Amino acid sequence: MPREPTPPGEVLSQLLAAAEDGLVATVGPRFFGLVVGGSLPAATAADLLATGWDQCAFNAAVAPAAAAAEQVAGEWLADVLGLLEGVSVGFVTGGQAANTVGLACARHHLLAQAGWDVERDGLAGAPRVRVVACRERHATIDASLRLLGFGTSVLEPVAAGGNGAIDIADLERVLDRGRGPVLVCLQAGNVNTGACDDLRAACGLVREHGGWSHVDGAFGLWAAASPATAALVDGVELADSWACDGHKWLNVPYDSGFAFCSRPDVHAAAMSYTAAYLAGSGTGSPALGDLVPESSRRARGFAVWAALRELGRDGLARLVLRCHTLARRFASALADGGAEVANDVVLNQVLVRFGNDEQTARVIEAVQRDGTCWLGGTTWRGNRYLRIAVSNHSTTEADVDRSAAAILRCAAEVRNKVGNEAGNDVGNEVRNAAGDAPPERP
Ligand SMILES: *Cc1c(COP(=O)(O)O)cnc(C)c1O
Repeated sequence: MPREPTPPGEVLSQLLAAAEDGLVATVGPRFFGLVVGGSLPAATAADLLATGWDQCAFNAAVAPAAAAAEQVAGEWLADVLGLLEGVSVGFVTGGQAANTVGLACARHHLLAQAGWDVERDGLAGAPRVRVVACRERHATIDASLRLLGFGTSVLEPVAAGGNGAIDIADLERVLDRGRGPVLVCLQAGNVNTGACDDLRAACGLVREHGGWSHVDGAFGLWAAASPATAALVDGVELADSWACDGHKWLNVPYDSGFAFCSRPDVHAAAMSYTAAYLAGSGTGSPALGDLVPESSRRARGFAVWAALRELGRDGLARLVLRCHTLARRFASALADGGAEVANDVVLNQVLVRFGNDEQTARVIEAVQRDGTCWLGGTTWRGNRYLRIAVSNHSTTEADVDRSAAAILRCAAEVRNKVGNEAGNDVGNEVRNAAGDAPPERP
């Protein structure tokens, strides 16, 4: 911490010089790691405005324009994502926060129905809430359960089908096994395979059991926006709460996520708080801050509004379909080149394997070093894979072809090296390379 002030221009020069070598081209068209969208021009500019305007988007009295943007963008979002009119939406930081809000809504509702005020009395001594989720749920569901005091040991796991969606017959068996309030975590977009749960069947079962269904649709919920993929999330409107990301497939700058709830009163009851100095300062009901974990907060609605306005309904549909088509193109190019494609590419995720875990881990390393494109690895059902997610609005067929060629080139190099090493009996090195692979993040 320097003692003396520095002129702002100089500060920025220093920052640029210091940061440049540590930046990753995540907005570029050949970044296929995690599930990272790029940033649409209007959304990026609107986000810069949000920074400059520096609104405190707590309610419509202190930030009327920010509130209007969230209201309009929220209605548009619900519409394009296939949710029913009148759902409430909180603009949050991402999928993790949105899952937490959705599960908090479930906690409030299920316990209120059982005559328990969880906001006042907490979970100690509360009626037990069953929590049911697929074995292939996203890890943030577990984190949300921890934060909300459910813990993770209460989870009753349900088997996954071939492509990683929830097994409906097993869901029914698990639901029938117990009684009482039940929260069921469903998924649109398995983070490895892109598979979407059969939401119509699953939500129907949950309703029969008087439960609450929450859909983690961080990226998969966008399937609803294109007629070509909408069938994957058929029945999505039957759930009770939903989590979705803006910074993934909508191509809004970080950070941006949405927590939807079918019952605005439950949503507000689960998230709002009152403070004497805030009383009467809100003009809408519920206020923006009543639907999210944050109190003071950034005006995220501007960038979301701008992205949706820039794309339009048709542009959004084309964005989703294009990414899906490009993911399939990727998969066939790699399969033609001798790779094993493990998943049914229903959305924008491709899982690829070269020979065995060791070789696959080395191909990932080689691709990252090569620099033509970027992708990470994952472990799915015990095997190591390259994991490709196509989520950027600016990715072209040429980008995919060039990246697939680079991956196959890297794989050939690894194969040759492994062949040579086997000849020289230095296979241990290969095993270490795989064993040291870092754990995968979403
Ligand atoms: C990315 C992702 C999350 C977490 O979202 P963040 O925006 O990283 O907080 C949750 N669920 C799924 C299925 C995801 O793909």
